[in-house]
Amino acid sequence: MKLLLHMCCGPCACYPVKKLRADGIEPVGYFFNPNIHPYTEWDRRLKTAKEFAEKVKMEFYADENYRLRDFLKKALPAEALPNGRCTMCYTWRLEEAARFAAANGFDAFTSTLFYSIYQQHDLMKRTAEKFAAQYGVQFYYEDFRPGWQEGIDISHELELYRQPYCGCIFSEEERYSKAIRKQRRKENKAKKRARLAAEAAAAKEAGHE
Ligand code: SF4
Repeated sequence: MKLLLHMCCGPCACYPVKKLRADGIEPVGYFFNPNIHPYTEWDRRLKTAKEFAEKVKMEFYADENYRLRDFLKKALPAEALPNGRCTMCYTWRLEEAARFAAANGFDAFTSTLFYSIYQQHDLMKRTAEKFAAQYGVQFYYEDFRPGWQEGIDISHELELYRQPYCGCIFSEEERYSKAIRKQRRKENKAKKRARLAAEAAAAKEAGHE
Protein backbone atom coordinates (compact mmCIF):
# COMPACT_ATOMS: atom_id res chain seq x y z
CA MET A 1 0.00 0.00 0.00
CA LYS A 2 1.27 3.46 -0.91
CA LEU A 3 0.53 5.43 2.27
CA LEU A 4 0.86 9.17 2.85
CA LEU A 5 1.59 10.03 6.48
CA HIS A 6 0.65 13.59 7.28
CA MET A 7 3.19 14.72 9.92
CA CYS A 8 2.33 17.38 12.48
CA CYS A 9 5.99 17.31 13.62
CA GLY A 10 8.99 14.99 13.93
CA PRO A 11 8.50 13.59 17.45
CA CYS A 12 4.87 12.58 16.79
CA ALA A 13 6.00 10.59 13.72
CA CYS A 14 8.43 8.38 15.68
CA TYR A 15 6.01 5.73 16.85
CA PRO A 16 3.64 5.68 13.84
CA VAL A 17 6.55 5.17 11.41
CA LYS A 18 7.98 2.37 13.54
CA LYS A 19 4.57 0.69 13.85
CA LEU A 20 3.69 1.04 10.16
CA ARG A 21 7.03 -0.40 9.09
CA ALA A 22 6.59 -3.30 11.53
CA ASP A 23 3.28 -3.95 9.76
CA GLY A 24 4.96 -3.97 6.35
CA ILE A 25 3.91 -0.48 5.25
CA GLU A 26 6.51 2.06 4.11
CA PRO A 27 4.96 5.51 4.70
CA VAL A 28 5.83 8.74 2.91
CA GLY A 29 5.88 11.81 5.17
CA TYR A 30 4.09 15.08 4.39
CA PHE A 31 4.45 18.20 6.56
CA PHE A 32 1.53 20.61 6.19
CA ASN A 33 0.86 22.68 9.29
CA PRO A 34 -0.43 26.23 8.81
CA ASN A 35 -1.36 26.13 12.50
CA ILE A 36 2.20 26.49 13.81
CA HIS A 37 3.34 29.94 14.94
CA PRO A 38 5.35 32.08 15.30
CA TYR A 39 7.66 31.74 12.30
CA THR A 40 10.70 30.56 14.29
CA GLU A 41 8.69 27.77 15.87
CA TRP A 42 7.17 26.68 12.52
CA ASP A 43 10.63 26.70 10.94
CA ARG A 44 12.08 24.66 13.78
CA ARG A 45 9.33 22.04 13.61
CA LEU A 46 9.68 21.81 9.83
CA LYS A 47 13.44 21.32 10.16
CA THR A 48 12.91 18.70 12.85
CA ALA A 49 10.42 16.84 10.65
CA LYS A 50 13.00 16.83 7.84
CA GLU A 51 15.73 15.74 10.25
CA PHE A 52 13.55 12.87 11.44
CA ALA A 53 12.79 11.75 7.86
CA GLU A 54 16.51 11.78 7.05
CA LYS A 55 17.45 9.87 10.19
CA VAL A 56 14.92 7.11 9.55
CA LYS A 57 15.42 7.24 5.74
CA MET A 58 11.81 8.01 4.91
CA GLU A 59 10.66 9.81 1.76
CA PHE A 60 9.38 13.24 2.78
CA TYR A 61 7.47 16.20 1.31
CA ALA A 62 6.59 19.52 2.88
CA ASP A 63 4.50 22.57 2.18
CA GLU A 64 7.09 25.19 3.05
CA ASN A 65 4.78 28.20 3.12
CA TYR A 66 4.30 29.91 6.47
CA ARG A 67 0.59 30.74 6.63
CA LEU A 68 -0.10 32.78 9.76
CA ARG A 69 -2.39 35.25 7.97
CA ASP A 70 -4.45 32.51 6.28
CA PHE A 71 -4.73 30.73 9.61
CA LEU A 72 -5.98 33.85 11.38
CA LYS A 73 -8.56 34.52 8.65
CA LYS A 74 -10.05 31.10 9.39
CA ALA A 75 -9.39 30.93 13.14
CA LEU A 76 -10.81 34.28 14.29
CA PRO A 77 -14.37 33.65 13.01
CA ALA A 78 -14.12 30.01 14.18
CA GLU A 79 -13.31 31.19 17.72
CA ALA A 80 -16.95 32.29 18.06
CA LEU A 81 -18.11 28.65 17.87
CA PRO A 82 -17.59 26.06 20.61
CA ASN A 83 -14.41 24.17 19.76
CA GLY A 84 -14.45 26.04 16.46
CA ARG A 85 -10.77 26.80 16.14
CA CYS A 86 -9.49 23.26 16.65
CA THR A 87 -12.26 21.84 14.42
CA MET A 88 -11.15 24.23 11.67
CA CYS A 89 -7.51 23.28 12.25
CA TYR A 90 -8.10 19.51 11.98
CA THR A 91 -10.37 20.04 8.97
CA TRP A 92 -7.79 22.11 7.10
CA ARG A 93 -4.90 19.76 7.68
CA LEU A 94 -6.77 16.50 7.11
CA GLU A 95 -8.44 17.81 3.96
CA GLU A 96 -5.04 18.80 2.61
CA ALA A 97 -3.65 15.34 3.48
CA ALA A 98 -6.52 13.67 1.58
CA ARG A 99 -6.16 16.07 -1.37
CA PHE A 100 -2.37 15.62 -1.57
CA ALA A 101 -2.69 11.83 -1.34
CA ALA A 102 -5.31 11.68 -4.10
CA ALA A 103 -3.43 14.10 -6.35
CA ASN A 104 -0.15 12.19 -6.03
CA GLY A 105 -1.27 8.61 -6.56
CA PHE A 106 -1.32 7.38 -2.96
CA ASP A 107 -3.70 4.56 -2.04
CA ALA A 108 -4.36 5.97 1.41
CA PHE A 109 -3.49 8.64 3.95
CA THR A 110 -3.26 8.95 7.70
CA SER A 111 -1.78 11.44 10.17
CA THR A 112 0.52 11.55 13.17
CA LEU A 113 -2.36 13.45 14.80
CA PHE A 114 -3.76 9.97 15.56
CA TYR A 115 -0.77 9.40 17.83
CA SER A 116 -1.47 12.39 20.08
CA ILE A 117 -3.14 11.86 23.44
CA TYR A 118 -3.97 15.58 23.50
CA GLN A 119 -5.93 15.93 20.26
CA GLN A 120 -9.62 15.18 19.72
CA HIS A 121 -9.22 11.71 18.27
CA ASP A 122 -12.84 10.86 17.41
CA LEU A 123 -13.52 14.23 15.82
CA MET A 124 -10.36 13.88 13.68
CA LYS A 125 -11.36 10.34 12.68
CA ARG A 126 -14.78 11.49 11.46
CA THR A 127 -13.14 14.39 9.63
CA ALA A 128 -10.57 12.16 7.89
CA GLU A 129 -13.30 9.70 6.86
CA LYS A 130 -15.32 12.52 5.32
CA PHE A 131 -12.40 13.75 3.20
CA ALA A 132 -11.40 10.22 2.20
CA ALA A 133 -14.85 9.78 0.66
CA GLN A 134 -14.75 13.25 -0.88
CA TYR A 135 -11.33 12.81 -2.54
CA GLY A 136 -11.71 9.11 -3.43
CA VAL A 137 -8.72 7.92 -1.41
CA GLN A 138 -8.67 5.54 1.57
CA PHE A 139 -8.25 6.77 5.13
CA TYR A 140 -5.88 4.33 6.83
CA TYR A 141 -7.11 4.41 10.41
CA GLU A 142 -4.93 3.31 13.26
CA ASP A 143 -5.03 4.50 16.85
CA PHE A 144 -1.33 5.10 17.52
CA ARG A 145 -1.89 6.38 21.07
CA PRO A 146 -0.85 3.12 22.81
CA GLY A 147 2.68 3.92 21.57
CA TRP A 148 2.76 7.33 23.27
CA GLN A 149 5.68 6.66 25.64
CA GLU A 150 7.57 4.60 23.09
CA GLY A 151 7.36 7.51 20.66
CA ILE A 152 8.73 9.90 23.28
CA ASP A 153 11.61 7.53 23.99
CA ILE A 154 12.48 7.24 20.28
CA SER A 155 12.39 11.03 19.88
CA HIS A 156 14.91 11.35 22.73
CA GLU A 157 17.15 8.67 21.20
CA LEU A 158 17.08 10.56 17.89
CA GLU A 159 17.73 13.85 19.76
CA LEU A 160 14.77 15.59 18.13
CA TYR A 161 13.47 18.96 19.25
CA ARG A 162 10.25 18.49 21.24
CA GLN A 163 7.84 21.39 21.17
CA PRO A 164 6.24 22.72 24.37
CA TYR A 165 2.78 23.66 23.00
CA CYS A 166 0.25 22.48 20.41
CA GLY A 167 1.04 24.94 17.63
CA CYS A 168 -1.04 28.08 17.13
CA ILE A 169 -0.47 31.39 18.86
CA PHE A 170 -3.61 30.77 20.92
CA SER A 171 -2.22 27.50 22.26
CA GLU A 172 1.08 29.21 23.01
CA GLU A 173 -0.78 31.76 25.16
CA GLU A 174 -2.77 28.98 26.84
CA ARG A 175 0.49 27.20 27.63
CA TYR A 176 2.32 30.17 29.16
CA SER A 177 -0.28 32.64 30.47
CA LYS A 178 -0.56 32.31 34.26
CA ALA A 179 -3.98 34.00 34.18
CA ILE A 180 -5.37 31.49 31.66
CA ARG A 181 -3.91 28.54 33.55
CA LYS A 182 -5.44 29.84 36.79
CA GLN A 183 -8.82 30.25 35.08
CA ARG A 184 -8.59 26.69 33.64
CA ARG A 185 -7.85 25.26 37.09
CA LYS A 186 -10.88 27.12 38.46
CA GLU A 187 -13.11 25.79 35.66
CA ASN A 188 -11.85 22.25 36.15
CA LYS A 189 -12.51 22.42 39.88
CA ALA A 190 -16.04 23.73 39.24
CA LYS A 191 -16.65 20.90 36.71
CA LYS A 192 -15.40 18.35 39.23
CA ARG A 193 -17.67 19.75 41.96
CA ALA A 194 -20.67 19.64 39.58
CA ARG A 195 -19.84 16.05 38.58
CA LEU A 196 -19.53 14.90 42.20
CA ALA A 197 -22.80 16.65 43.11
CA ALA A 198 -24.57 14.94 40.16
CA GLU A 199 -23.15 11.55 41.18
CA ALA A 200 -24.23 12.07 44.81
CA ALA A 201 -27.74 13.10 43.68
CA ALA A 202 -27.97 10.02 41.40
CA ALA A 203 -26.82 7.74 44.25
CA LYS A 204 -29.40 9.27 46.60
CA GLU A 205 -32.11 8.86 43.98
CA ALA A 206 -31.16 5.21 43.45
CA GLY A 207 -31.33 4.65 47.23
CA HIS A 208 -34.98 5.76 47.21
CA GLU A 209 -36.03 3.30 44.47
S1 SF4 B 1 -4.80 24.38 19.79
FE1 SF4 B 1 -3.73 22.97 18.37
S2 SF4 B 1 -5.39 21.87 17.30
FE2 SF4 B 1 -6.28 23.70 18.23
S3 SF4 B 1 -6.19 25.29 16.66
FE3 SF4 B 1 -4.34 25.51 17.89
S4 SF4 B 1 -2.81 24.29 16.83
FE4 SF4 B 1 -4.79 23.65 16.03
